[in-house]
Amino acid sequence: MNFLTHLECGMCSETLEPDKIWNLCPKCSKPLLVRYDLEAAKKAVNPDAISGRSPNMWRYQELLPVIDKKNILTLGEGFTPLHLAKRLGSELGFGNLYIKDEGLNPTGSFKARGLCMAISRAMELGITSVSIPTAGNAGGAMSAYAALAGMEAFVFMPKDVPKPFINECKALGASVTLIDGLITDCGKAARKEVEKYGRFDVSTLKEPYRIEGKKTMGYELAEQMNWRLPDVIIYPTGGGTGLVGMWKAFDEMEKLGWIDCKRPRMVTVQSDGCAPMVKAFHEGKEFADMWQGAKTIADGLRVPAAVGDFLILRALRESNGTAVAVPDEEIMESTNLLGQTQGIFAAPEGGATLAGFIQLRKQGWIKDDETVVLFNTGSGHKYSHLWD
Ligand SMILES: *Cc1c(COP(=O)(O)O)cnc(C)c1O
Repeated sequence: MNFLTHLECGMCSETLEPDKIWNLCPKCSKPLLVRYDLEAAKKAVNPDAISGRSPNMWRYQELLPVIDKKNILTLGEGFTPLHLAKRLGSELGFGNLYIKDEGLNPTGSFKARGLCMAISRAMELGITSVSIPTAGNAGGAMSAYAALAGMEAFVFMPKDVPKPFINECKALGASVTLIDGLITDCGKAARKEVEKYGRFDVSTLKEPYRIEGKKTMGYELAEQMNWRLPDVIIYPTGGGTGLVGMWKAFDEMEKLGWIDCKRPRMVTVQSDGCAPMVKAFHEGKEFADMWQGAKTIADGLRVPAAVGDFLILRALRESNGTAVAVPDEEIMESTNLLGQTQGIFAAPEGGATLAGFIQLRKQGWIKDDETVVLFNTGSGHKYSHLWD
């Protein structure tokens, strides 16, 4: 059973048919969001019905865009553990600190959620060839699901991305093109070939379905916290799909009657070597300027411009959240602290959320009795060169 009704532009609210292939809004070139008949869904499904289902992201299938079950490609993505970080919390003198460990997803990052959904839906729509520009993890995730679907996969990566990211894509059967530049340059190179060879572009927020995969983090978090959301969520932001996705999920869950109107304050963390969202947030801007000279050890955060910038900034402001930039040295220290206290070998992006937490505690922005969730968005394994 599925309640998908239409797609809607996040900027101009243009409405589009869901069963056609779309990238950005044909009117204003901004990201499209998936809409459902939530009234009907509310009658068909509830948290009790979901509680007995398989522990993966497809347990929320009524609120997901794949219509025919036979198009679901799964490697066991989602339903990652939510840990109460007792040792880390006591080290920092803080009681209610949780870590959502997304490093346990297939291909070692939460990119699996988004790409699983995008490729499943692409298969449903008859697509046979997919292309992605990536700063690292998205390439591996796309390659995995494209392999499972029997699709051709083309990955465009900066040539200075660590070897494990590149080799993973190759092992998963993708064709990899290395670009002398950043993810934005990879985007340009990918786009040329997309037009020339008729591939489908699954860039962050440039097709409507990756966000639907990542929004399941919001559903899961609510379910794992007994349908009460935390006070603060700290999220390492690159293209922002997860943050925008969770914000969308909270809205849907309230309409479904699964949660009340209480929302977490959403926090974006970026490296101070690439912090376009932090800058735009504090300048009060609706859109972010392209960041010049982007440089950070956290590959997933090396995103100088994001097409969904206004959606990220909107979620931060609507939630009374904030945005913080942290230096790479603090990212490394925090990544080590996560490992040494909680046994989690985190990606530096995950470490960045802890560095952001420490900074916000110093500022007094997070109170003693609040509940905070850090998102460790990936495993440290592909970044092990950082410990050489
Ligand atoms: C891509 C990535 C991010 C950034 O995610 P967005 O949803 O694009 O903001 C953070 N951490 C890791 C490990 C990533 O691979």
